[in-house]
Formats: sequence, C-alpha cells, structure tokens
Amino acid sequence: MTDFAATKALFHLPDGMIYLDGNSLGPLPVAATARVAQTVTAEWGDMLITGWNKAGWMAQPTVLADRVGRLIGAEAGHVVLGDTLSIKVYQALAAALDLTPDRRVILSDTGNFPTDLYMAEGLIRSLGRGHELRTVAPDDVMGSLTDDVAVLMLTQVDYKTGRLHDMAALTKAAHARGIITIWDLAHSAGAIPVDLAGCNADFAVGCTYKYLNGGPGAPAFIYVAPRHINQTQPALSGWLGHAAPFAFDPTYAAGTGIERMRVGTPPVLQMAALDAAMDVWDNVNMDDVRTRALAFSEILISEVATKCPDLRLASPKDGAMRGSQVSFHHAQGYAIVQALVAQGVIGDFRAPDIIRFGITPLYLDEGEIHRAVEILADIIANRTWDQDHFKTRAAVT
Ligand SMILES: *Cc1c(COP(=O)(O)O)cnc(C)c1O
Repeated sequence: MTDFAATKALFHLPDGMIYLDGNSLGPLPVAATARVAQTVTAEWGDMLITGWNKAGWMAQPTVLADRVGRLIGAEAGHVVLGDTLSIKVYQALAAALDLTPDRRVILSDTGNFPTDLYMAEGLIRSLGRGHELRTVAPDDVMGSLTDDVAVLMLTQVDYKTGRLHDMAALTKAAHARGIITIWDLAHSAGAIPVDLAGCNADFAVGCTYKYLNGGPGAPAFIYVAPRHINQTQPALSGWLGHAAPFAFDPTYAAGTGIERMRVGTPPVLQMAALDAAMDVWDNVNMDDVRTRALAFSEILISEVATKCPDLRLASPKDGAMRGSQVSFHHAQGYAIVQALVAQGVIGDFRAPDIIRFGITPLYLDEGEIHRAVEILADIIANRTWDQDHFKTRAAVT
C-alpha cells in the first residue's frame, strides 16, 4: 500500500492552503529545491560543459522517461522527454499520418484541449495534402470511426469536465478500421492507472508539470509503440534525434528507437526538478492513487450536492467515467474561484462557467476536502464572491 501520509510530507505547500489545482500545476517536491540547487552549483557551476557527460545530462531525457513510462504502462525504452506537449502532439500526429498515407481525416472530439487541435491545424497547413480535422462530440467518437479516418487523436481525460474515454475499447475499435491512435495523457499521467502496452496504443503524449509535479516548464513526454518506432520518420528532425549527433553529418539520419523523437538540447534544470518529483512517484502505486482519488471525489460531489445546491456537476457522476478532477457549472464561476483563492482554497476556472478541482491524493487528505466544501458553501451562502475585485479576470485563469 502506498503511504499517503508519507508522500504528503514530501511536498511543500504553504501553511493553510488547500491545493486543488494539481491538475494544472503540481506543487513543489521538497527535495526539488536542493536537487535543482545542486545541479546549478555543483554541475553547471563546477562542471560546466563536462556536465553533459559527467552528470549524465544527455541521458536524462530517456532515463527519466522510463520512470514516467512505468506510470502509464509503457514498455521500457519507448518514452522520451523533451519540449512542450504542443510540440509532442505535432510530432506524434505527423508520424501517425505517415503511417496512414491513403487517408485524410484526423478525428478528435470537441472536448479536446485547444492546443492539440491548433497543432493539428498547423500541421495540416504545412503538409498541404488536403487533410481534414474532424471534431465530434465525445460520446460520438466511437460511432465516427469511419474508413476515411487516418488518425484518432484524443485527450483521454477532458480538461474541463474530467470525462474519461475508454482507451482500450476505442483503440481496439480504431485498429479494426485501420486507424492509428494518439492518446494525450496530460490529465492521465499520475492521475489514473494507464496501460499503454496493454491497450495496444500507437502513440501517446503528455506533460509532467500537472499531476507528475515536475514544476512550471517541465518537459513533455512522447511514447511510440515498439512496432511503429522504426518506421517513424521524425517531422521535427533535430540534431539530438540524429543517429550520431556528434558526427555533425550535414544530412539527417533518424536515431535508434525512441531517441529519434528528441529534437534539441534538453532542459537540464527542469529535468533536475522532475527527477526529484519522480523520486516520490517511484514509491507510489497508481491503483492506490485511483482508489483514494475516487473516494475523495465522491465526498466532494456528495458534500457539494448537499451544501452548495447552486453548483451543477459538470463531471460524470459515475467515478469509472471520470479522471481525477471534479468540475461544476456556475454562472459566477470565475468570481467564486477568486473568492476561494482569497481564503486559501486553490481551484481554477475554465471559460465559460466551469469551476475545477483537481483531486491529488499524494498531498491531499480527506479533512482538506471537507474544509474546502465548507469554505465554498460559506462563500456561496454569503455571496462573498459578489465583489468587483473577484470579477476582474487575470491573464491566467
Ligand atoms: C495542459 C495541456 C496541454 C499544454 O500544452 P503545453 O505545450 O505543455 O503548454 C496540451 N494539451 C492538453 C490536453 C493539456 O491538458
């Protein structure tokens, strides 16, 4: 059993704060402070350029990626870290379209995070081969797997509502029609158990700054199934994905295996922070996380239903259909979230009217869930949110 009292002690959270936003940005692992400082002073400071070899900087994108890979059921050696998730979506999609050259449709759903759709639009434009991005309602995906679809590109857990797609069933149905799948695990990695190999997934991507707690700007990851990697010709053919980067050959040749999905210089300081975050995850069982997150989510949903009847549940009621967040609709959602933040309860708001709470058992306990609902109920009952300064939108919501 995962010892959640022990994991909670491994995070820095400001006194009195109830942090329900680990689905956007995970908190600081206590050990990351010294780990990053060590990388700065003893490695960058004292080793300078030799750090690439001596401190293992160059190997970090694959070494650390395997530790992420364990949490998402990836085969060892088939995940690599780097860049941002938007870039990884582009890479995966370009590679997937190469595998299905006779088809022209990229199928996604209307609940996908905009950047995934934007990156698809940009790729379609640069390819100039007449591809089409088709988005359907989340519930209509299964019925839209037609023979013209090249790639099914989905985010497994909807960032607004927490609705969870059935990865195994959709991947199987897609394969039966010759469709390649890309799973965005932004709200899955570290949130719910994922079994990429068991689902026979083709490509997967995700970020490490949300549930994985790698810190702001932490690198993204990409997974390519072993059966595809040798046919994958990287669209972003950067020098660190080359077979022999230090041969400085003027012509590109794809590197071995997943290494070819690297692009350029890895973010070494970010990798140091992520390394400390993964030290926590190495002792965590995802099934335990899931059980506890579902229990906390049920408490939140039932307490809100009783104490805050004005809030309408935006997430699926059935825990099996939900990731690790709970969302509610309220016309004054933005102001309510600001009033919560002012009282130390950190959730967030997604336009037009969604109040979102991330459920992250590594550092949340049951008492905090109860307290958060009490504060929320008080804010709504007393209309504390109804003040101008809570209604003025900041750049980042
Ligand atoms: C958070 C998130 C992103 C963010 O992409 P970045 O390039 O890391 O900024 C992309 N896609 C999804 C589905 C997300 O949830």
